[in-house]
Order: sequence, then C-alpha cells, then structure tokens
Amino acid sequence: MVRYYCPYCNPKYQFQKQSSKGNLICGLCGEDLVKKPLIRLNQIIALVAASSLLLPLIYTFIFLIKNQLNPPNKNYQANSRLMIIIKDEIFKLN
Ligand SMILES: [Zn+2]
Repeated sequence: MVRYYCPYCNPKYQFQKQSSKGNLICGLCGEDLVKKPLIRLNQIIALVAASSLLLPLIYTFIFLIKNQLNPPNKNYQANSRLMIIIKDEIFKLN
C-alpha cells in the first residue's frame, strides 16, 4: 500500500481530496500529495549511524559484566590448586 502525504501540512490534520483533474491533493492547502515510501533512505542511514555508536558500547558492557561475574585468573602464583596439580605432575614424571 502506498501512502500519500502533504510535505507542507501537519500530518495530524491532513486529509486527502481529489482535484478536478483526478489526482490526489491536500485537503488543507491544495498542494499535490507526495508518495510516501515504506522505508526512507534517511531512516536507514540513521539506523546504521546509531548502531555503529551503540554496538561497541553494548559489546564493552557485556565484557565488563562477564569479567565481573568470573574474573580472569591471571595470578597463577596465588592459585594453589594449580600449583598442587603441577607438583603432582612433576612427581609423576620422577
Ligand atoms: Zn497540505
């Protein structure tokens, strides 16, 4: 379905009228109505721009939350369980 709109009037108060020639005109100002495309190019550009700003932000937030829930264990010296496992492996070899 193709919708028509008047580019000059408020979309709230617009109503369509048929002119004497047979084409649709605006009921308020008498201007020819313009076809309204379903997805405007501006909307696509705005969506891409917004997502390019928001997606890295969301990505970092997910990583921050994930690291807080189970922090990466980089302190190997303090990890006594790992030391015991390593010791056991060394004893097994000997
Ligand atoms: Zn109008």
